[in-house]
Amino acid sequence: MQSISPRVKALAVSQTLAMSQKSAELKAKGIDVINLSVGEPDFNTPSHIKAAAVKAIEDNFSFYSPVAGYMSLRKAIAAKLLNENNVEFSPEQIVVGNGAKHALSNVILATVAPGDEVIIPTPAWVSYVEMVKLAEGVPVTVETKLEQNFKISPEQLAAAITPRTRAIILCSPSNPTGSVYTCEELKALAEIIALHPDMLVIADEIYEHILYTGKDFVSMASFDNIKSQVVLINGVSKAYAMTGWRIGFCAAPVEIAKAVSKLQGQTTSGASSIAQKAAEAAYTGSQECVEEMRLAFERRRNLVVKLARQIPGMRVSEPQGAFYLFPEVNSFLGTVAPDGRTINTSGDLALYLLEEAHVATVDGAAFCAPGFIRMSYATSDENLVEAFARISKALAVLK
Ligand code: PMP
Ligand code: GLU
Repeated sequence: MQSISPRVKALAVSQTLAMSQKSAELKAKGIDVINLSVGEPDFNTPSHIKAAAVKAIEDNFSFYSPVAGYMSLRKAIAAKLLNENNVEFSPEQIVVGNGAKHALSNVILATVAPGDEVIIPTPAWVSYVEMVKLAEGVPVTVETKLEQNFKISPEQLAAAITPRTRAIILCSPSNPTGSVYTCEELKALAEIIALHPDMLVIADEIYEHILYTGKDFVSMASFDNIKSQVVLINGVSKAYAMTGWRIGFCAAPVEIAKAVSKLQGQTTSGASSIAQKAAEAAYTGSQECVEEMRLAFERRRNLVVKLARQIPGMRVSEPQGAFYLFPEVNSFLGTVAPDGRTINTSGDLALYLLEEAHVATVDGAAFCAPGFIRMSYATSDENLVEAFARISKALAVLK
């Protein structure tokens, strides 16, 4: 038996990726599974972005790229941050990595010392807690409820801060809940964070463009009183339908950017040269594609909220962003299915829906929120209608 390090032994498997793989396996066996598990746009990458990648290949962008990313891309990102988010970061403060996930883990490894506490409002995206554990930090989860639209209140934040607090990870629009903090709500949190100058806010803004509030997105870095405490995380995966290209970035105080760069220089080096050129085209080209996709997501959001509310016992709050529905399913727990199995947990329910209704969802427990399931509605309207019809039928026969 090979021995595996305790660090990796203690790590949970990414449930979003695991569920997606499971559904792919069933599909390969010929079962018609509708996959609402993994969160990724179902659109193809826009043509002008693909063309930039082809050109990069032809222009021989085949050599190692600078560790922190091409200067032209970092300049494009700095311009995007200024023009779209009204925040000023110099290219030296930006480090491009292999997706926002990589940028996040780099930042956490570069800033969290063993024993440091990191506040994570839950429900939270699957990887935050695990990344903090990997850095030997202490994840401090703070539960938010459906009734508060899953948003941490200033009082909850203040109560969670201790002398060991190193950071809070905020995700708005949120994966998995779809909730979005208003400007006033962010300001109230910023006032508390400003009282603790050694504390960082790691603001995961990957879903900034997938927004249905009718208002402009507000970046956490736009509050002057905490500007030197904010690390922004963003990337091209969601806004430009580029999940497989693996480009994301952090924008941070210069010392943190330098530390992230050092770490990246010893682990993965600069991100793919071709994908960086594609990302540059995404940030500098026409933004019409972003709005087209957003409109489709908004239409689907309206559809799934309507369909979910037609299912007796399923409670949902209306998502204001991202592409996830996060229904509470407690009323189905403790029931028995026609095949005799007992549904005790939201995990049992997700498995039942996969095996009986052939719809893949993710157990809320993966997001530190048992009693819920997550459904990604980044799929066609037809798939969504069919998925909800199947779910509705499967839930109706639980006794
Ligand atoms: N943060 C959140 C909240 C996400 O949902 C995702 C999606 N995987 C990521 C970060 C990572 O995105 P990327 O594909 O850029 O690594
Ligand atoms: N962010 C997506 C999700 O939550 C992709 C999977 C992942 O990176 O975990 O489903």
